[in-house]
Formats: sequence, structure tokens, C-alpha cells
Amino acid sequence: MDRCGWCGKKISRGQRFCSDDCRERCERTLARDRRCIKWFLLLLAAGVLALFAGALDGQDALVGGGMLLIGSDILLFPLVTPETTALLGMRTARWLGRALGAVTMAAGVWIGWF
Ligand SMILES: [Zn+2]
Repeated sequence: MDRCGWCGKKISRGQRFCSDDCRERCERTLARDRRCIKWFLLLLAAGVLALFAGALDGQDALVGGGMLLIGSDILLFPLVTPETTALLGMRTARWLGRALGAVTMAAGVWIGWF
């Protein structure tokens, strides 16, 4: 039994998507990801840099700011791994990615400003 690449519904072996709608959504999302990947990496690099600078310097606000940046980055561009996509379907995997981003942001605010 295979699973639909977008919604994760069980489908018969050999098929990739349960419907044309799911295939279209998946292709649109992948095309958007390809356009956005340089911004994703840029934001990620900036966030990690701020995180390390803050940690070395002992500045909680900078660490929190870095985490906030990384979290919002994941939230905006939940680029999930092919493994999670294959297991859960892209829709669920991206939802999980967004949730992870939100948690990272919350942790960043907590560390930086409380
Ligand atoms: Zn589907």
C-alpha cells in the first residue's frame, strides 16, 4: 500500500497521488519551495549566527532573537524532508513543520525576554 504524496491517504500501489487535486497542490508547493530556498537558507544562516553570537557573548536577547528568526523561517518555509513526506504525506508533514517553527519562536521569546 502506498500513500498519497499530498494528503497521506492510502492508495493502491504504484500510484503517487489519490487525485489530480492532490498532485496539483503538491507540484505548486514544490515549485514555491524551489523559488524560496535561497531565502530560507539566508534566514537560517542569519538566525544561527545570531544564536551563536548571543551564546558566546552571553546575551539572552540575541539568542532569543536568533531562535525567533529560525522559528519564523521554518514557519514560513516548512521544507520537510522527503522521508517525513513519504511517511505522512506532504500536507501533514508541512503542518508539523509549521508547528515546530511556532514552538521554536515561542522558546526564543521565552529565552530572550523572560
Ligand atoms: Zn491525496
